[in-house]
Amino acid sequence: MAASMCDVFSFCVGVAGQARSAVEVRFVSSAKGKGLFATQLIRKGETIFVERPLVAAQFLWNALYRYRACDHCLRALEKAEENAQRLTGKPGQVLPHPELCTVRKDLHQNCPHCQVMYCSAECQLAAAEQYHRVLCPGPSQDDPLHPLNKLQEAWRSIHYPPETASIMLMARMVATVKQAKDKDRWIRLFSQFCNKTANEEEEIVHKLLGDKFKGQLEFLRKLFTEALYEEALSQWFTPDGFRSLFALVGTNGQGIGTRLEEIVLELLHDLLGLGWKTERGK
Ligand SMILES: [Zn+2]
Ligand SMILES: [Zn+2]
Repeated sequence: MAASMCDVFSFCVGVAGQARSAVEVRFVSSAKGKGLFATQLIRKGETIFVERPLVAAQFLWNALYRYRACDHCLRALEKAEENAQRLTGKPGQVLPHPELCTVRKDLHQNCPHCQVMYCSAECQLAAAEQYHRVLCPGPSQDDPLHPLNKLQEAWRSIHYPPETASIMLMARMVATVKQAKDKDRWIRLFSQFCNKTANEEEEIVHKLLGDKFKGQLEFLRKLFTEALYEEALSQWFTPDGFRSLFALVGTNGQGIGTRLEEIVLELLHDLLGLGWKTERGK
């Protein structure tokens, strides 16, 4: 989930090269929020906008299947070849062009308490300072009775792949406020996202959970409360507030693909001789 309206530029980490003037952020409406508008022609493959998410979390099924990504910025921690070996179950699987992989294992760090991995010391520090001190399970990382593990297990049992959101986005939002010295600033930031009417929220929750599991929202709310209750955010833990939080993540969260998948796709296209290439490397 990325920063909203008035804070959008403070969270923006820079726009690449000439594209700096190629787009602008405009407020569209309170229902639609902000939008990105082109101010000039943009070439295919050009980076037009970069922003830092307020919170990010790996899809839980991906993590369970040991897709290795930085726990803070989601950068891949495994090379395309390792990814292909894991997915195909063939340890000897070789992919051409290893030089396209830029995974820097020498920079990787882990949390000394729960061993979760980061791409760099910067990400480890950023996570610790924003939310990880509250969420770190320490040595209980594999304990099925740890409240956060119970919550994640419940989410996985309700939300099958392909995943479109993660309960951990909400957990990180709460943990961010719990850890923050200036709680109001973060509450203000989160409250600036597009809000929906109760009916629209119901529809979004319905879509996220699917017909079969619609009634499970209350079950998730109980586990969420047990794991994370925070007085300053008490409104998020009520049945209505939790549904709104759910809808907020469903509306404003963004699923992202990885660079790694893009590289694998590109290599497959090369291997199969489909004559298709991205702009990169030309
Ligand atoms: Zn990272
Ligand atoms: Zn930890």
